[in-house]
Amino acid sequence: MTPAEVLEMFAEVSNIDPRVPAAPTREIATAWARLLDDVPLAVAQDAVRDYYRSARYAKTHDRISTGDIVQFWESICDEARAENRRRMELVAIQEGLDGRAAIEAAKHKPIRRFADQFAVEQARKRARRDGLDPDEVAREVSRSRQAWREVPCSYCGAAVRQPCTVPGTQRELRKSPAHPVRMQAAAALRESA
Ligand SMILES: [Zn+2]
Repeated sequence: MTPAEVLEMFAEVSNIDPRVPAAPTREIATAWARLLDDVPLAVAQDAVRDYYRSARYAKTHDRISTGDIVQFWESICDEARAENRRRMELVAIQEGLDGRAAIEAAKHKPIRRFADQFAVEQARKRARRDGLDPDEVAREVSRSRQAWREVPCSYCGAAVRQPCTVPGTQRELRKSPAHPVRMQAAAALRESA
């Protein structure tokens, strides 16, 4: 999530939990965005829904934390990885290949693309529920998740349109679309456009 998306989420949460400020400071939004940089907004919104419906909240009445959101995101990633592995194994078996090798390969596949796809699907579902145009909303979410392509990364030095890599290696990031500083630069560019 970008700081702007964190603000959007806070505004929503404040409707459910009055202890959460509707408009937190820029510092708070940036700090949350840093911790949740790989979590798509749509997933965080689902995490909020899940949390405030949970038995844990009913019992403790604790405010939602970044940890609650990350835990929810991790469980979705685990499911996606398992699903990915099943699919890879099935394809491998159909093609007469070694299923185990395919599973091993799938484990190391970046789930970044899955995260993009998931965010778009969730946004579309949400739009339908809210009576908005799902295609238009999906396009907007997709554009904002791909916004990093428009700027270079000052952290790893990736050029425009080139994916971020772990510094000193050729390895692409597995979960985040790009490094937080690049996401923020891209978001600032979009906001100023
Ligand atoms: Zn980078």
